[in-house]
Amino acid sequence: MYLCDIHSHSKISPDSRAELSDMARAAVSAGLRELCVTDHCDLLDLDGNPVTAFDWPAAKEQYRRVKQEAGASLTLRLGLELGSAPYDPAAARDILAQGGEELDFVLGSLHNWIGMEGNRDLCTSGFHGDLALSRRAVESTLDHTWTLVTKCADCYDSLAHIVYPLRYIHQEGISLSIGDYEDRVRTIFKEVAKTDHALEVNVYRGKDLDSWPPLLAWFKECGGRLVTVGSDAHRPADVALGIPEGLEMIKAAGLDCVTTYRQRKPELHKL
Ligand SMILES: [Zn+2]
Ligand SMILES: [Zn+2]
Repeated sequence: MYLCDIHSHSKISPDSRAELSDMARAAVSAGLRELCVTDHCDLLDLDGNPVTAFDWPAAKEQYRRVKQEAGASLTLRLGLELGSAPYDPAAARDILAQGGEELDFVLGSLHNWIGMEGNRDLCTSGFHGDLALSRRAVESTLDHTWTLVTKCADCYDSLAHIVYPLRYIHQEGISLSIGDYEDRVRTIFKEVAKTDHALEVNVYRGKDLDSWPPLLAWFKECGGRLVTVGSDAHRPADVALGIPEGLEMIKAAGLDCVTTYRQRKPELHKL
């Protein structure tokens, strides 16, 4: 089994204080062969303010240093978790171009409301038992995901955590499932598959293992072939949590490889 975790954060992200060197050491301790650091670049911040730049010099400096430190013990890749590309595709493309040849991998995320609720991050919404607001959050995310995969397909390699709004909706005990949106999700998956993009199994530090088996089955039925796996760790203790289980789920869904990326090209590893 090729143990890889290609969704992780370091102190370059606003919500992490982790040193990349500590994340890499944790990856080696956990037995990972490959780690990709995917720091946040959200074109809308938590409060909904536009962002048009990413600190590439800092990201590349730490990446080069830690890659050298890690040597042969770990394949370290440089990624980016690019949020809200449909909000400002020109800024998204500009930021990705600045990544240059060193940029290995782009996760396409939708963390924010776009065009409603002050463009804030869904994690700040506080759904408080409001089923209508929860439904709007899922529907808005699926709308913008459709825009991402059809109009900004060059702005992502793997579709990150499609269940993101449900993380916060479920915390408030609201019963809403991605299964309620199966047709829309399948339409998105067909486009992801047709354009040779990947679906991310985001195990959310081992806390979300249940969402993925049905989604993987739909993705496969829709012609999907490329699947990435990530813990979404923001601190060393969370690196690789849930990754072995994620790989087992991919295999159980009848997909025989896990995908990583180098210079934005997929590399398939037999499970
Ligand atoms: Zn995310
Ligand atoms: Zn993340």
